[in-house]
Amino acid sequence: MPRIFSGIQPSGELHIGNWLGAVQNWVTLQQSYDCLFCVVDLHAITAKYEHASLARRTREMALGLLACGVDPDRSTLFVQSHVAEHSELQWLLNAVAPIGELERMTQFKDKAQRVESVPVGLLNYPVLMAADILLYHADLVPVGEDQVQHLELTREVARRWNAEFGGGQDYFPEPQPILTEAKRIVGLDGGTKMSKSLGNTIGLLESPEEIWQKLRPAKTDPARVTRKDPGNPEVCNIYHLHKYFSPPETVAQVADNCRGAKWGCLDCKRVLAENMSLALAPIRERARELEAQPGRVEEILAAGAATAGRIAAETIREVRERMGFLQAERQADRRPDSGMAPPARLPV
Ligand code: SF4
Repeated sequence: MPRIFSGIQPSGELHIGNWLGAVQNWVTLQQSYDCLFCVVDLHAITAKYEHASLARRTREMALGLLACGVDPDRSTLFVQSHVAEHSELQWLLNAVAPIGELERMTQFKDKAQRVESVPVGLLNYPVLMAADILLYHADLVPVGEDQVQHLELTREVARRWNAEFGGGQDYFPEPQPILTEAKRIVGLDGGTKMSKSLGNTIGLLESPEEIWQKLRPAKTDPARVTRKDPGNPEVCNIYHLHKYFSPPETVAQVADNCRGAKWGCLDCKRVLAENMSLALAPIRERARELEAQPGRVEEILAAGAATAGRIAAETIREVRERMGFLQAERQADRRPDSGMAPPARLPV
């Protein structure tokens, strides 16, 4: 079964933009692929972040993924920093990662110009992403348009490493993208991508009342100044959100009512709020069930890290060997499930 790796940053509670843009797709993919889904907390420290809330946000993200339907019996769900080999492989891949190409990454250039002092981690971000994927010999990576360039860099790093250390073999497969339907979910301000940092989101676990309070002031077609002014649904984010949450006949009616000034924007938003609350109800319910089982999320993440760690440890062992390192005799001791006693501490 082909293997997929995909990661998501620990931004805390999932919002509808994450769900529609990525997580719904994960839930579908796990039916047909061997999936590793990772909360990528190591990526989160490449920009300024709130360290006091990182652990909480990481757990909330994991809980949200499980509530959305990521199934730990089918997929491996884990936290990136719980498998130390991600960092190790990143360092080892630095031996072949081309700095010129890293500097040309659009995301790097964009983010670097917004900070006074550019951390090395920001430049190195795509190498860590390459490590995430190559560590598991993933065949496929679901990518949005903003990650295509990073995946191409992963392929380049794999080619360079294979040429240098592969001994005539393609040890690392070049992962292929799974190009999913580009869903760019616009935030409630109607202008930019939905993003928690911009405060323009609706959380997946929000109550119907909270959803309504967020939708009520959301931006619509500015041409609809009064109820009698006809509008253009195509320029209104509320209409596009209807397409994801309302049945097709309602979507058609929304467009007709808007163009013909047959209802007000609050009426339109009320229908959206009801359909959205209905669609998200099972997710809220699963989240409640998980919260009612103390330690369950942690247990799932520990099992996921153990599964991922076994694959990762084998890859690192082979990579070290191919790169010429002296193998540590008792390397397996580091795995808690290896059944071996931990190595004695050296006296200092
Ligand atoms: S009626 Fe609906 S689709 Fe039209 S502008 Fe208002 S909120 Fe948007």
